[in-house]
Amino acid sequence: MAAHRELLARHRAVMPNWMALFYDEPIEIASASGRRVTDREGRTYLDFFAGILTNAVGYDVPEISDAIRAQLDTGVFHTSTLYLIDKQVELAERIAELSGIPDAKVFFTNSGTEANETALMLATQYRRSDQVMALRNSYHGRAFATVAITGNRGWSASSLSPVKVSWVHGGYRFRSPFRHLSDADYVKACVDDLREVIEVTTAGDVACMIAEPIQGVGGFTTPPDGLFGAFKEVLDEYGILFISDEVQTGWGRTGEHFWGIGAHGVVPDAMTFAKGLGNGLAIGGVVARADLMDCLGANSLSTFGGNPVSTAGALATLDYVLEHDLQANALKLGARLTEGLRSIAEDNPVVGDVRGKGLMVGIELVGPDGEPAPKAALAVLEGARERGLLIGKGGLYGNVIRLAPPMTVTADEVEEALVALRGAIGEASA
Ligand code: PMP
Repeated sequence: MAAHRELLARHRAVMPNWMALFYDEPIEIASASGRRVTDREGRTYLDFFAGILTNAVGYDVPEISDAIRAQLDTGVFHTSTLYLIDKQVELAERIAELSGIPDAKVFFTNSGTEANETALMLATQYRRSDQVMALRNSYHGRAFATVAITGNRGWSASSLSPVKVSWVHGGYRFRSPFRHLSDADYVKACVDDLREVIEVTTAGDVACMIAEPIQGVGGFTTPPDGLFGAFKEVLDEYGILFISDEVQTGWGRTGEHFWGIGAHGVVPDAMTFAKGLGNGLAIGGVVARADLMDCLGANSLSTFGGNPVSTAGALATLDYVLEHDLQANALKLGARLTEGLRSIAEDNPVVGDVRGKGLMVGIELVGPDGEPAPKAALAVLEGARERGLLIGKGGLYGNVIRLAPPMTVTADEVEEALVALRGAIGEASA
């Protein structure tokens, strides 16, 4: 404990104040296996948040560790992207094929933020416009352009921006002015809003719209299926590109589709991805139509993206996801998790909404008049930890619990998590 306290004090002294840590007593993970992590004090937790943070498949998966180790054994961690890298090319071929984008090309980065920065560079160059549309309550990263298109102001350190941004309704339905409409009318209201934004505030010369099919940091907000298909029809009228940010929704996590945007019956002009693909290694990227990808004249964004170690790990992760049909597991166990949470909600009025798809499930906590209840979310976070379960928190008001276990999660682990959540939510309601 003393060593842990000392590490925390050193962290606080040398690292920025804005680098937040979860929990009153932050956790230091010392080892991990499957869906379980063990902290420095030897306490083991079931991890129901790692799936979104980075870990699509779970910890210590031999097939993935062996592939990384084999690359390390060659002695080549990285040289430069100025040389040919066979795993990088193979991974690009696989992702291009899986994307469903005709004639797709792929560029690798080290993170989701870099992937979105690249996508914005492509779109603004292609359209010769610095105007971008994004959804309210979005999160796309915290670099200079991505922070500007992040509509969740809790995450925006600055309003300075290299792009001009217009905001569109559609993501966060629970607190939207269109909340009480039917699915079809909600979509129509959002489409009307989009058209008005284009015509009234932009004169139509917009480079692109970027959107998360399910907003991640924004609290797993889940629009009706088809919304982005309806948006794309309007965007096409103006030649505006559509970019789907799949950083949290890719690789089958939503259960129904391999990409989150699949629920909307539309093929985007580009998709960005990261996190889960590396199962913990730093990798991200953009997959885009060839003419869009090739419109840049300059060399690559960084010399590290798609390095041999990351791409070896990512290829093994992708193989694992596909060979074990983890998308089907996400569909099946996500449905059970949601059903269990709906039953918890019936007994606990603090639960205002249970939403999401597959293994991306959000619980919005509310006060007596439906107002956001961030303190309850903090209490659930701490209460779940006391019960041996790690979960996430998010949402515009910090009042949404986010559940996103690795996609290898088992039925027993889902039941175990539900027991812990029933206890923690019950305590927070009391
Ligand atoms: N897009 C989305 C949808 C995200 O959730 C995140 C990270 N939370 C990012 C982009 C940025 O990714 P990274 O942290 O890898 O830079």
